[in-house]
Order: sequence, then C-alpha cells, then structure tokens
Amino acid sequence: MSDPDRKLWEGMLAYLRANHPTICRQWFEEIEPLGVSGGALNLRAHSNVHRDYLRRQCLEPFSEAVQQVADRLISVRFLGPEDEIASDGKPQSRTRTARPGEAAAPIPESLTINPDYDFSSFVVGPGNRYAHAAAIAVANKPGHAYNPLFIHGKVGLGKTHLLQAVCLKIKESHPETVIQYLSCESFVSHFTESIREGWMTEFRHAFRDVDVLVIDDIHFLGARVRSQEEFFHTFNTLYQANKQIVLSSDAPPEHIPDLEERLVSRFKWGLVSEVEPPDYETRVAILKTKAKMRGLDLPEDVACHIAARVDTNIRELEGAVTKLQLRSVVEGRPIDLEIARAALGENTAPTTSGPTIQAIIDAVTEFYSVRLTDLQSKRRQRSIALPRQVCMYLARRHTRHSLEEIGGYFGGRDHTTVMHAVRTVDEKRGVDQDFEHVLQALEGRLRDRR
Ligand code: ADP
Ligand code: MG
Repeated sequence: MSDPDRKLWEGMLAYLRANHPTICRQWFEEIEPLGVSGGALNLRAHSNVHRDYLRRQCLEPFSEAVQQVADRLISVRFLGPEDEIASDGKPQSRTRTARPGEAAAPIPESLTINPDYDFSSFVVGPGNRYAHAAAIAVANKPGHAYNPLFIHGKVGLGKTHLLQAVCLKIKESHPETVIQYLSCESFVSHFTESIREGWMTEFRHAFRDVDVLVIDDIHFLGARVRSQEEFFHTFNTLYQANKQIVLSSDAPPEHIPDLEERLVSRFKWGLVSEVEPPDYETRVAILKTKAKMRGLDLPEDVACHIAARVDTNIRELEGAVTKLQLRSVVEGRPIDLEIARAALGENTAPTTSGPTIQAIIDAVTEFYSVRLTDLQSKRRQRSIALPRQVCMYLARRHTRHSLEEIGGYFGGRDHTTVMHAVRTVDEKRGVDQDFEHVLQALEGRLRDRR
C-alpha cells in the first residue's frame, strides 16, 4: 500500500466522521486500504462480519467520501481477511467447502450478524448477569454447557445482542463451526415456502445439519401448528446429536401462547434465563460503551444525566447516543450537558407527573449557590453536603427514581447514603424552623414548575 492510499483513506475517515457520524465505528481505524484497482479503492476489514457490516451499511457514504476526497469518479470495495482481489479487480470470496451431500438448492441463509453485538460491548449488570454467564458458557462449549439455552425478557433488553454475541464468539474461536442463526419468523416463512416449492430436503438439511442453531424470537411459533411440528423434529435431531440450540423469546416457555406442551418441556431441558431491565449503574455503563464503540467522548455527567432519564428500554439509550452524536456534529462542538438536554428535549418528559431530577437540581443549586459538579463530587464540607442531601431527599420524595439511582447520580454513592440523607433531612425539618421554610419554598417551586 502506498502513501497516497493511506492519505486517501485518512481523508475519507475524516469526511465520514463529519458527514456520516452515525455509521462510524471505532474499528474503522483498523480498516486497511489496499490501493485502487479496476476503478475502486479496496478496503480490507479485519473480519467477514465487519466486511458484511460495511457492505450492508456503508457502501453509499463510503463511495461519496472517496469521491469527495479523491475528487474523481471512483468507488469502494470491501474485502474480508481472506478475500483476494482477482486480476480483473473484482474481489473473490473464498467459499466454504460444501459438506458431503450438501444440496445446491436454495438454502435459507443465516441472518447477518451485527459486529456491534459482541460480548465486549455487552454490559453485565444485575438484570442480565445469569443470561450473560450462560451465553458465555454456551459460546465456549457449544452443545456441552446448557442445551438448549433459552433467554427471555421484554423488548429491548439485549436478547438479540446476546444471541449474536454467542454466534460471533463461536465463529471467532471455531471458524469451522456451522451456525444457522435466524429469526423464528424467517424459519416459519422458509418452512412454508419449502413445503410449497417441494424443498423440504434442503430445508431440513439447512436446519438439521448444523453445529449450532440459534433462533431469535421463538415465541413466534405460538399457534403455528405445522411449524411447531417441524421445529419439534429439528430440535430432537440436533439435541440427540449434541448440537447446540439457543433460543430467545419475549416470554418464558410456559407463557408462550399456544405452544405445544412437548416443546414447552423441551425448551426447559437446558437453562431458562431471564433478562431484566438495567439499573442506573448499568445504564450509565451501557451509554459509555455505546459511545466508545462510535469513537465518541461522552462526559460522565452527560452519561448520568441520560441514564437518569431514559430508564426502560435500552434501545432508547442507544437512540439517545445517536441524537447526541448528530447534535454535536451539527453544532460543531463536543458533547456536554447542554447538548444532551437539547438533544433529548421533548422526548424526555418524565413518566410521573412529579418534578424531574433536573428541576430539583435547578432549584437547589440556585438556592444554595452550588454547582451540580460540586453535588456530584466527593467533597463533604457542609456547604455542599447539605444541598446534596436536600437534592437526594427531594428526589426520593418527589420522583420515582430508586435509592440506588439517586445515589449513583449524585456522585456514585450507594443507597444507604441516600437513606441517610432522607432521614437527616426529615429530622432537621422537624427541629429547625428555618430549614423547614426553605424546604417548603423549594417544594412549592417544584410544584409550580409542573
Ligand atoms: P431485544 O432483542 O431483547 O429486544 P436487543 O438485543 O435488540 O434487544 O437490544 C436492544 C439494544 O440495546 C441493542 O442496541 C443492544 O446492543 C442494546 N443492549 C441491550 N442490552 C445491552 C447490554 N447489557 N449492554 C450493551 N448494550 C445492550
Ligand atoms: Mg430481539
């Protein structure tokens, strides 16, 4: 690779970060420019999963970038570690050698896997600890740890992420493993089509001659009688051959409506694990991880600010990071609290009718002439400790945030500190009339603001 190629690529990276920030990932740094051939710049990704992400998400913005930077008509071509550039300039993917008896008929393709969803970007917290540990165990020893592994939970809590992390990890450590990963919906539609077109042999081959079968959203099988019958046999074949099965669902097996009893019981043979909503600390960590993955610098106070407001679906946390990123690029300045507030704007209305943490902080910091950073610091002098306790007290009394979240927000303190603050303020209100008046005034102000 020559210097001009490297320069061209670096120029493209800068262009992409400025104009298409949301597709950018930290690993773009590892992309290797291989020079121009046949009218295209060849870019090599460090794995096929990364190459596929580029091909899927990035062709247009990259083409735009290369033309802007090179100032001529040129396209881009994405290669994986083993793809070679043929003499005609076209990349040639090395295809997997066919297994004995492999059919040439249309085989359902595995869903593409998102390189963002690996174990390193999955934040472990109290709500997902067991599911995560089980997924790791399965990825390390497919077919031998828990079979099947059944992960269930509400939408947006990381089930698909865990399933894909399992696939990525197995592919990384045992590239020869044959994995079939797809949504249950896709299983059902392939099945219906195969019956109609007479492709059942190929269909069965695609699902039964694999080492690992991963099916997302298996609850979709509910009430689909013939698909359930087919899946029952698929399951048995794989299970008897010690092949790993991993399933996700929005409900535990026994609560999937209209699922045959024999499937319900099989789904419980291995390990059934639930993912639950993340607590405050986990949300902060998720925000930081998502930001880092995109090469973004997310200050602590901004992460805390968002984590305190977006508290149900993790997908929304990621959405918040995207909004911040766009806003910061548009305004041409680094992410700070002000950008965060603007970016979250109208969508951050609290779910309760009470005041927000922000309204409490505004009222308290103004009254006591302190700054939020002081309240979040470790400083214990009285002029800061008291307003901090007042904030915790008001947050506890007038918002739905948990002790843990409040403690985390005010400088990573634990829930006993918040309980102590609430007790102290309550006691002081009872004995100190001036203080009682201050509290009444603050509470009045919060009420008026609603
Ligand atoms: P589900 O399949 O349960 O509906 P997803 O796996 O699609 O949820 O997750 C939704 C989003 O939240 C994805 O962007 C995913 O990366 C993210 N996410 C969920 N849990 C975590 C976690 N523990 N750490 C990091 N990201 C997470
Ligand atoms: Mg999902």
